[in-house]
Amino acid sequence: MLTAEIIAIGSELLTPEKVDTNSLWLTGKLNEIGIEVKLKIVVGDDELRLEETIRDALKRSDIVISTGGLGPTEDDITRKISAKAIDRELVYHTEIEADLRERFRKWGREMPEINKRQAFVIDGAEILPNPNGSAVGMCVEFASKIFVILPGPPRENKPMFENFILPKLREMAGEIYVKRKMLKVSGLGESAVDEAVAPIYTAYENVQTSILFNKSEIEVHLMAQAKTETEAESVLDELAGKIAEKLGIAVFSTNGEAMEEVVGQLLAGRGKTLSIAESCTGGLIGERLTDVAGSSKYFIEGAVTYANDAKIRTLNVPKEVIEANGAVSAPTAEAMAKGIRDRSGTDFAISVTGIAGPDGGTEEKPVGTVFIGYADAKQVKSKKFILPGDRYLVRWRASSAALDYLRRQILKNDE
Ligand code: AMP
Ligand code: MG
Repeated sequence: MLTAEIIAIGSELLTPEKVDTNSLWLTGKLNEIGIEVKLKIVVGDDELRLEETIRDALKRSDIVISTGGLGPTEDDITRKISAKAIDRELVYHTEIEADLRERFRKWGREMPEINKRQAFVIDGAEILPNPNGSAVGMCVEFASKIFVILPGPPRENKPMFENFILPKLREMAGEIYVKRKMLKVSGLGESAVDEAVAPIYTAYENVQTSILFNKSEIEVHLMAQAKTETEAESVLDELAGKIAEKLGIAVFSTNGEAMEEVVGQLLAGRGKTLSIAESCTGGLIGERLTDVAGSSKYFIEGAVTYANDAKIRTLNVPKEVIEANGAVSAPTAEAMAKGIRDRSGTDFAISVTGIAGPDGGTEEKPVGTVFIGYADAKQVKSKKFILPGDRYLVRWRASSAALDYLRRQILKNDE
């Protein structure tokens, strides 16, 4: 397998404000064609460090890709230092200057003289045109290595990489295709998932499987390598199918969709509507549901009823129910779900009431105690959860538990 290294250049990437996203995108593209990224480096606009970084990278890796530092200003040193690091001259290209002048003329401006710097190209490098900006990219090929120099802005370097570099690298990498797939699982722990599916995935030697915990769900990541794209895809589909069958209803997504998207698809596909009543999640479920484009088809109404009075006034929760059981209880959760459904006339309603912490827990109802209510035309019911974590996580997990409870009910109703 060929190895690659990515160098993100720019002092702004060493501040707390700016994240290097170029390397993430590039890594995805490289992995798809079977090239592994062994190292990535963020280096500021510092001549000595950049030179050293490029020299070292070219010793270590078959493919070195840099982004950034190709602008016309004094701090953009990539052109000069890259040439130095590989012991080559910079050559002035009049056609690039003419191109730049024409570009500025079209914007109705005179080209500033400093932009002439962008007409210098490393001797022997292939020039990578940039229809979206002023800096051309460069590609230098050695006997067995390749050094690619791309501009910083993603909208400039993405098309450049895809059009000019990817085909070259694909040829270098040979016929290896890498495909990924992710299954998302709810309601089971990491170990339980692994125990159930390890006997299945360990039989697939050319698939790399990893199981990760992500806030409120388990992700099963599959990566397959094969000689053709179809072969890689079919191996993945086969394994994903077996895992999904083994885990059953706990698998809520096989294409990376979020829980709120899955719930939305279930509602939209059945022409059903939803209302929600939230207490400790404070609108988080409504936020997640409406984050999905097209949610107006099924999401009708959400009420954030934090105080007892609000639950009574807005949702018609009987005062006695709260007095007898407390606001965090199964009867209150059920009355909340019924209340919002009666009021909005939706097919389904869900509710959440719980203790997000850090205060407010008791021996009987510790922090993380959450009741999810559910109501449809035929029934009203609820389920108790004890969710671990700090306030942020309890609230997030409560929102996921509520959406998952609804998802499972909708699927159960189908049977
Ligand atoms: P430069 O080519 O260094 O002039 O960078 C131009 C712009 O590209 C910067 O202001 C950033 O907004 C963006 N940029 C540079 N490097 C990166 C990176 N690694 N990831 C994301 N954006 C970047
Ligand atoms: Mg820069």
